[in-house]
Amino acid sequence: MSAFALMPIADRSQQSDSPAPSLAIVESGLAACRPPDAALQAETSALRLARQIYAAWLQRCLRQGAYRKNPGAVAALPRAAIEHQLDCALERAGPEVADLLSLHTAQRAGLVELCALIRALAAADQQDARAVQTWDRLIDLGLEVLQGFAEMEIVFAAQRAAHDPLTGLPGRAALQQRLQAEQSLALRHGRTCAVVMVDIDHFKQVNDQHGHQAGDRVLAAFARVLRGALRPYDGVYRYGGEEFVLILPGAAAAQAVRIVDRIRLSLAARPLVQLQPRVLHVSFSAGVAALTERAIAQTLRCADQALYRAKAEGRDQVHLESCVSA
Ligand code: GH3
Ligand code: MG
Ligand code: MG
Repeated sequence: MSAFALMPIADRSQQSDSPAPSLAIVESGLAACRPPDAALQAETSALRLARQIYAAWLQRCLRQGAYRKNPGAVAALPRAAIEHQLDCALERAGPEVADLLSLHTAQRAGLVELCALIRALAAADQQDARAVQTWDRLIDLGLEVLQGFAEMEIVFAAQRAAHDPLTGLPGRAALQQRLQAEQSLALRHGRTCAVVMVDIDHFKQVNDQHGHQAGDRVLAAFARVLRGALRPYDGVYRYGGEEFVLILPGAAAAQAVRIVDRIRLSLAARPLVQLQPRVLHVSFSAGVAALTERAIAQTLRCADQALYRAKAEGRDQVHLESCVSA
């Protein structure tokens, strides 16, 4: 794998829709094969590994020493060695890191530019003073990429901070932090992000008819279905009771409606939990809003109003906000 192979990996994330949830996804949610926070653990350790790799790589670059005094030496820097170092590190790290690298728009842009700079450096005339500028940019960008990883780690740490023991999902405090982080990313990099309020339909009846314990099982299974149907870097939060909030970075609101509707349809096709001697189906209603520069509380209110309409119009449906974006 060459360092330029980073680009196809990055391009994969251009597919901004989540993979279509299928019965298999619902099934994997039901299988309870891993607790929801295991995914978060894996992400966090992959992120840490990616940071280590880049830190080591950058150190090697910086150690090339007195390049500023000798433009020729900069142009002659062994591009192949730099690539090799990145490749070995990425190959050792495995696919989790490659996937992780593809998830962050800023990181992706940074990595693509890094590759272009390595190429420009190799093509530079050995006496060309511009080689120094190219090299400086490469180092600066390397530092920016590392900073990007640090920011991502803060977001993940916030997610880990408050997990609900029943569903394994993070709660409201983490939601608030993530929304703030996503909003600043949206404003800085112009990336879209959708926020979805989800509420299980007639959940009180589950408790009333099957008992509180069965209700708890439904909540845990429902959380697994949501988590399993979305991308690792989408956010799933327990907002309270039988209400959940989804954060879908990179998705426009209309796209998010389609994504959530696919989850709704796959849930309708399968029982959620097995209660001897019968099985239990549940449906949910959802409201979708775009995360824009308006106040976060306003975005949540708009998603909630759309959810309210979905309930009023018969439940088991997904509605788009009707607020005028501020
Ligand atoms: P709607 O379709 O309008 O949303 O109706 P609903 O029955 O789902 O909504 P309602 O707000 O009337 O009831 C929610 C119920 O959720 C009431 C509450 O006891 C139950 N609940 C909240 N948290 C938990 C929990 O952690 N475990 C269990 N088993 N039940 C919970
Ligand atoms: Mg509710
Ligand atoms: Mg409900």
